[in-house]
Amino acid sequence: MVEADHALMSTYPRLPVAFTHGEGAWLWDEAGNRYLDALCGLAVTGLGHAHPAVTTAVAEQSQRLLHTSNLYRIPVQEQLGERLCALTGQEKVFFCNSGAEANEAALKIARLYGHQHGIDAPTVVVMEGAFHGRTMATLTATGNPKVQAGFEPLLSGFMRVPYNDAAALRDLRAERTDIVAVLLEPVQGEAGIVVPDPDYLRQVREICDARGWLMMIDEIQSGMGRSGKWLASEHAGVSADVVTLAKALGNGVPIGACLARGEAANVMQAGHHGSTFGGNPLACSAALAVLDTIESENLLDNAAQMGEVIVTRLREKLAGVNGIREIRSLGLLLGIELQLPCPELVQRALDRGLLINVAQGNVIRLLPPLIIDREQAGQIADILAVLVREFLSDAEPAT
Ligand SMILES: *Cc1c(COP(=O)(O)O)cnc(C)c1O
Repeated sequence: MVEADHALMSTYPRLPVAFTHGEGAWLWDEAGNRYLDALCGLAVTGLGHAHPAVTTAVAEQSQRLLHTSNLYRIPVQEQLGERLCALTGQEKVFFCNSGAEANEAALKIARLYGHQHGIDAPTVVVMEGAFHGRTMATLTATGNPKVQAGFEPLLSGFMRVPYNDAAALRDLRAERTDIVAVLLEPVQGEAGIVVPDPDYLRQVREICDARGWLMMIDEIQSGMGRSGKWLASEHAGVSADVVTLAKALGNGVPIGACLARGEAANVMQAGHHGSTFGGNPLACSAALAVLDTIESENLLDNAAQMGEVIVTRLREKLAGVNGIREIRSLGLLLGIELQLPCPELVQRALDRGLLINVAQGNVIRLLPPLIIDREQAGQIADILAVLVREFLSDAEPAT
């Protein structure tokens, strides 16, 4: 393939393939090869590609009106806000255009909340291994030195504790009166699909309640049905004070949302925050079509069931294979951790017509679409099991 990306900043190492179109769980490249998409552009196209409900909503809205401004009422934004609040148990929404922006809004809410409580230098507790985005505040919140290197000085007002360790959070002594909020993912995606203990989020909720801290949950990767529920935090029976969404919310049309309830819902007032594009008619129409479709096609149940199909099949086909550390999942968030780094599996899977990702160097990450059927779920597991077996037997020293 020709080197045609010389005008683009080298922010991504790009695989040598370009897709021309898609349908459902399938994508086609320029040469006409077909691929099973078990990645969804990183948890974005939950309804698969070219879903007619989204396509129609985008086409119709674009023929009427793309953009006005938040200086005017936008009925489709109001409607989406109400629907999202009803589905998540939240009360108010700020719309933006990406995950990082949704988290920026959450962090600004936390700081305002602090100042309104007489705290001059509010601190947000964040987690080791966390990923919250690439803007200055969100990369500061991110618990990965690679994301931060070269961008110092980072922001002040953050402190870090280990993930899945309620005791570490409880041990932050009461004299830390500057703490205003805890920001965390219900499942750490970029860290390699790290699923915390069943009781962890509930304990974090209790600690936040006892100390008057806002519990802010980043559901950007785990939300919108991927876990088998609208929000992954529902599995723990926990309701946050602030929830952030993006990725799958518009099925590929850029949109993010920061939702809040209780006191957190009312700290933002006119002039505090804004976004030119945030919540524009096009993005909101797409998101409404996404919500309708998840409901009408019963995709929460499907995500839970297909996640089980993939995990069960993988465990079956990889039973007794040396070199697999752990298989973790919640719905259609799936991670297969190997003992060895395996970044080359991405290209090898591509060669076999399967799109996957490797996180942390040694965790195969699968984020298939919610619309996937039993046969496709089986195919993903079958192709992957062969690839993993081959990879691990190649890697084994000859005896
Ligand atoms: C992807 C992601 C983000 C950042 O979203 P962008 O739209 O890339 O800014 C934040 N948090 C989590 C958990 C994510 O997976």
